[in-house]
Amino acid sequence: MRDQIVAGNWKMNNDQIQTETLLERLKTYEIPNKVRVMVAPSFTQLSQSKQLLNGSSIKVAAQNMSAAPSGAYTGEVSAGMLKGIGVQIVILGHSERRTLFHETDVHLAEKVKAALASDMEVIFCFGEELEDRKAKAHFDVVEKQLKNALFDLEASAWKKIILAYEPVWAIGTGETASPQQAQEMHAHIRNLILNQYNPSVADEVSILYGGSVKPNNAKEIFSGADVDGGLIGGASLDAEDFMAIVNAF
Ligand code: PEP
Repeated sequence: MRDQIVAGNWKMNNDQIQTETLLERLKTYEIPNKVRVMVAPSFTQLSQSKQLLNGSSIKVAAQNMSAAPSGAYTGEVSAGMLKGIGVQIVILGHSERRTLFHETDVHLAEKVKAALASDMEVIFCFGEELEDRKAKAHFDVVEKQLKNALFDLEASAWKKIILAYEPVWAIGTGETASPQQAQEMHAHIRNLILNQYNPSVADEVSILYGGSVKPNNAKEIFSGADVDGGLIGGASLDAEDFMAIVNAF
C-alpha cells in the first residue's frame, strides 16, 4: 500500500511567532493514522519547528538544499546540516526554484543524489507550464523532467522518493487541474516509472498533486486512483484549511 501524504510548503512565510502559532494550532488536531503529514518551514524555523513538533506525527521538511556537502557556497545549506537538526525530508525542484533561481534538471539530479546519499527522503516537484499544456506537450515535458533528474537512480533509491506533480499554471493561481487531468497525468507518470523500472517501484511511489488544492477541491482531486495526496502551498498557512485537506481522503 502506498503512503498517502499531505505536505505543506510554507514558502517564505511564517516568522518565529507565526510558526509557533500555526504549529500549536496544528497540534490540536488529531492526525489520521493513514496519512503522513509534513510541513516545510523556511530554514530559519526548522529547528524551532522540530522542537515544537516533538512528539507529534507531523514531520518537518526543508524547502531546498545544496548539492554540495560543504564549502564556499554562500547562502546555501547542506544535507548534513539538515540532518544535524533532525530534518530527514527535503523538497527539491519546486517550480519557484526552477523559475526564480534557475535550477535545471542537471542541478536537480545532483541535489537528489546528495539528499539520497545522506539517506534523506526527497519530495521531487515537476510539472509543465501553461504553454506546454496548450501545445499538448505536457506529457513529454513531464517525461523529460523525470528522465533527466531521476531515471538513472537505482530502483532501490525510489523508496526515498515522493513525486509531486505540480502544473506550473496551477500553483498559487487559484486554477487547479481538474481531477481528471490530475489522474490522467498521475497514471502517465506511474506508467513511465513502470517502463523504466518494475511494477513494485511503480506501485509503491507516492505521487502527490500540487496546485491550488483547497478544502473544497481536495477530496475530488485525491479520489484519483493514482493521486496519493497533495503538496499544499497557500492553504497550508491556515491550520483549519490544512487539516481539512489532511482529512479529505
Ligand atoms: C506549491 O507551492 O507547491 C503549491 C502547490 O502552492 P498552492 O497550493 O498555493 O498553489
